Amino acid sequence: MLIIASHNGTIGIRQAMAALKNGDSAMDAVEIGTRLVEADPSDHTVGCNGYPNILGELELDASIMDGRTLDSGAVAVMRGFPYAISVARQVLERKLPHVLLAGEGAERFAREIGAEERGEMLSDEIRQVWRARLATVGTAQDVDSRPDETALLDMVKFATDPERVAGTVNFIAIDSAGDICSGVSTSGWAWKYPGRIGDSPIIGAGNYADNRYGACACTGMGEMAIRAGTARSVVLYMRMGMALEEAAHTAMRDLRDLGGETIGDMNLIALDRHGAHIGLSSEVGRKYIYQTGDMLQHAEMERGLVDLPRRWGARR
Ligand code: ASP
Repeated sequence: MLIIASHNGTIGIRQAMAALKNGDSAMDAVEIGTRLVEADPSDHTVGCNGYPNILGELELDASIMDGRTLDSGAVAVMRGFPYAISVARQVLERKLPHVLLAGEGAERFAREIGAEERGEMLSDEIRQVWRARLATVGTAQDVDSRPDETALLDMVKFATDPERVAGTVNFIAIDSAGDICSGVSTSGWAWKYPGRIGDSPIIGAGNYADNRYGACACTGMGEMAIRAGTARSVVLYMRMGMALEEAAHTAMRDLRDLGGETIGDMNLIALDRHGAHIGLSSEVGRKYIYQTGDMLQHAEMERGLVDLPRRWGARR
């Protein structure tokens, strides 16, 4: 039994491991751990009280993948339901012939299955942070009085801040049967353009699990992981014969080939089917956490550093 998670999964890993020890599945553990992060109002990058989009609306993305069958469920741009990971799991388990539901469709589905709904997802404090950020791009009144008519393009370019735009939670678990599940949940970039979808709900980009090889999940600039297919790349490189470490480094180095003006940071955690694990980041000092079935509590690990040249065209 093993769980690895991004560092902000600390609040959930104990209960996730307790579930595994209790004989629950890897998918149960991933959902339990992720929900505790989604419920935490002090995490402004996941679930309730995350940083909203440029219009002040919280839009959540999440996905979950079953390594036994490659079955997946995902939701994107979902408003009003804090536990995005549970809705994503239900997309998978209700046997819809679909993998990813977005926007109003995701909300309708969430309501139909009786997912917990919350009228107000943001605290006053986060609303003030959003307002202050809008004020720096000069058009807060427009957004208030004419949200549908305000030109958002330049506002989004200038309001997004590469130092604090984002965050996401990753959980990957191997249960006592050796089955692997990976889950990712996020509120995405702060101040993003409405309707923007990151890598977290995109299977293959921010999340991938395959019992035969291993799993990977990402945080960081989702656009990069979508373009490079990062999570799937790690697993595919293992399938092609690379060991975990080489597979993960190769997928990170692939990101150096991305052209364009806007290139930010990327982080991943990954494991192979034998329980070896790794965390990599393009930022110095980033950590991830892990716990095996015989550990009384989780441990922190430094992530290996992979140099990625950052470009931020919008701010030049
Ligand atoms: N990957 C997330 C996204 O692009 C954000 C993050 O992890 O920082 O939505």
